[in-house]
Amino acid sequence: MNSEWCCAEFRERFFQTQGRQDGLGILWFVHSRAAPVFVLEYRHPNRTPPEPIAEDGIKLKFCPWCGRNLLEHYGSGLPPFHSASSD
Ligand SMILES: [Zn+2]
Repeated sequence: MNSEWCCAEFRERFFQTQGRQDGLGILWFVHSRAAPVFVLEYRHPNRTPPEPIAEDGIKLKFCPWCGRNLLEHYGSGLPPFHSASSD
């Protein structure tokens, strides 16, 4: 299991339940038997619950910033959002 984010930009843009969830960001859908799907989505600011501006997000195969294959990198799970040093 990976314990590292592919790059800082990806981590900053990833929507977290307890964090920023508007503007441009990335989320993933995890299905029990299928591979996770990564989506780039733009959301209205200050909406609860978060609401995407467009119906369809852009499916991502590679990280837009560093070009890493997302499925290969995160297929076994996401690393923790907060490292010990950021708290
Ligand atoms: Zn990256």
